[in-house]
Amino acid sequence: MLDELKALPRVQALVVGAGINGISAFRELALQGIDVLLVDRGDFCGACSSAPSRMIHGGLRYLENGELALVRESLRERDALLRNASHMVRPLPTTVPIQHVFSGLLNAAYGVLGLRTAPAERGAVAVKAGLTLYDRMAREHRAMPRHALRGRTETLRLWPDLPPTVRFSATYHDAWISFPERLGIEMVNDVVEAHPRALAVNHLAVTDRDGDRILLTDALTGAGFAVTADVVLNATGAWVDEVNALLAADGAAPEPMVGGTKGSHLILDNAALLRALNGHMIYFENVDGRVCIVFPYLGRVLLGSTDIRVERPGEVRCEDEEVAYILKSLSYVFPGIPIAAEQIVYRYSGVRPLPRSATSFTGRISRDHFVELVPGPPPIVCLVGGKWTTFRAFGAQAADRALAILGVPRVASTENLRIGGGVGFPIDAAGEAALVAGLAAEFSVTEARAAHAVARYGTDAGRVLAFCRDQADSALAYTGYSTAEIRYLVRREHARTLADVAQRRTSLAITGALSSAAIAETAAILADELGWSPEAAVAAERDFRARLARDHGLTEAILAERDRPTTRSLACA
Ligand SMILES: Cc1cc2nc3c(=O)[nH]c(=O)nc-3n(C[C@H](O)[C@H](O)[C@H](O)COP(=O)(O)OP(=O)(O)OC[C@H]3O[C@@H](n4cnc5c(N)ncnc54)[C@H](O)[C@@H]3O)c2cc1C
Repeated sequence: MLDELKALPRVQALVVGAGINGISAFRELALQGIDVLLVDRGDFCGACSSAPSRMIHGGLRYLENGELALVRESLRERDALLRNASHMVRPLPTTVPIQHVFSGLLNAAYGVLGLRTAPAERGAVAVKAGLTLYDRMAREHRAMPRHALRGRTETLRLWPDLPPTVRFSATYHDAWISFPERLGIEMVNDVVEAHPRALAVNHLAVTDRDGDRILLTDALTGAGFAVTADVVLNATGAWVDEVNALLAADGAAPEPMVGGTKGSHLILDNAALLRALNGHMIYFENVDGRVCIVFPYLGRVLLGSTDIRVERPGEVRCEDEEVAYILKSLSYVFPGIPIAAEQIVYRYSGVRPLPRSATSFTGRISRDHFVELVPGPPPIVCLVGGKWTTFRAFGAQAADRALAILGVPRVASTENLRIGGGVGFPIDAAGEAALVAGLAAEFSVTEARAAHAVARYGTDAGRVLAFCRDQADSALAYTGYSTAEIRYLVRREHARTLADVAQRRTSLAITGALSSAAIAETAAILADELGWSPEAAVAAERDFRARLARDHGLTEAILAERDRPTTRSLACA
């Protein structure tokens, strides 16, 4: 890729930042026949885009802010993702436990009036009114069932671990995404395979500007490159202002556009809690009026989140006080289920790139998105705000602005474009079972292994299993992954670091499967594939382990404790 880059001194469009919104804008432009370069100083979807609550949702809560257009757009995009990425985006029944009848009725009125204070606790009438409106807005596609309201007896029958003070519950449907980082890389690969004039490079930072040349630095080797572009798209999320300052013509940086808030999540291995959820997301409010979520995630439980203003995005981590806050919030909704420290198998954090706002209650800051133009030269289209769910609409909006600058008409839409392993993915469980059985037979692997491959790669599973069949292959220490599978991810999915593999191409870290032995084996594969020296391999492993301990609570003792067979690893060996 870097050789191609050297031969490419000029592009029509440069997209800086390969989070989900940058990748989306890149895909939109490539599809219109633009020669476009996408760069990220880290990995694809390596920053905020790997830190969400993993909900693909209309944003019921935004109704309180009076953001009807955002909810309508989010619902449309949610339903499009259920079609276009059906291997990863699946329906999620969501239940709201309710303690009161009438409270919270004025929340929406306050939001519409611009009174940005913490909302009052939501009662049954307010929730019912919100869900009725939500259903009505979703009716265009009717992809999901309508909401249902239950009384106390039925609620406690279905969720006996909710507090006895619960008086009602309401269930509606949204969606969740299993591997958001993988969907990003699948989109990148779709684009570069289909469009020879599109190039995407991770670990390549925009570091400076020299006249009309934009200077790029390889974050792994320090090598420098330069490129000129007719238009730049600044899709750097929480770093939009920083990159604008770097690229500003004559050093005149534009007014700040973003103001980030940090959010953290925990992944729990607690069988009682998993059972208590009864297959639903529980969407509940903390005593401070913030909405929290807890739902079953790949055999574990995902719990979040916090919402804390940060002045500078930098590197964020889930701090101990946040762990305490999140666990405390869980105790309000499932008071009889204690969580032991060792049941926190992973923690993660990210900075929401929100539009700049003076609002005192962070939950009231808009999750909407818009583009701002910095005139240049070169003109810079800045992507401000947004959420995961709406990446397609936001990418299209930014691309349209860039196309107008380039004077190129739009010729294709992504609205019905299937993504990666979602192409040809079966529409029902029977079709999925047939796909698994067919792959098991074709590649002489167990049905468990074929099922894991389908869950991770959708209809690309055959490609991965074919690669593994043609290589020396064995189980990756106690994880459910195989060594050839890791090799595949390095060769075909641009993984360049241990974190790329363990935290974004696979679910090793987030599901708590990552063990000390698995890190060592993965480092050996990366060293072999990428030609690392023995010293470089040792340094990479040391740095990665230090980061896991510092940012994700995974100490050496925890990783070593996982160095033993589990039912998961046995199932897939
Ligand atoms: C706690 C939390 C929970 C969330 N939950 C949800 C949810 O459930 N559903 C939902 O729809 N949304 C959710 N979101 C929002 C969603 O995750 C974000 O809106 C989205 O990921 C932002 O993507 P982005 O591409 O704009 O930014 P990012 O993913 O942050 O990408 C910006 C990229 O720019 C790169 N960059 C920065 N500087 C440079 C440079 N100089 N050169 C090159 N590259 C550079 C960075 O490395 C980074 O990869 C959540 C966010 C958080 C934090």
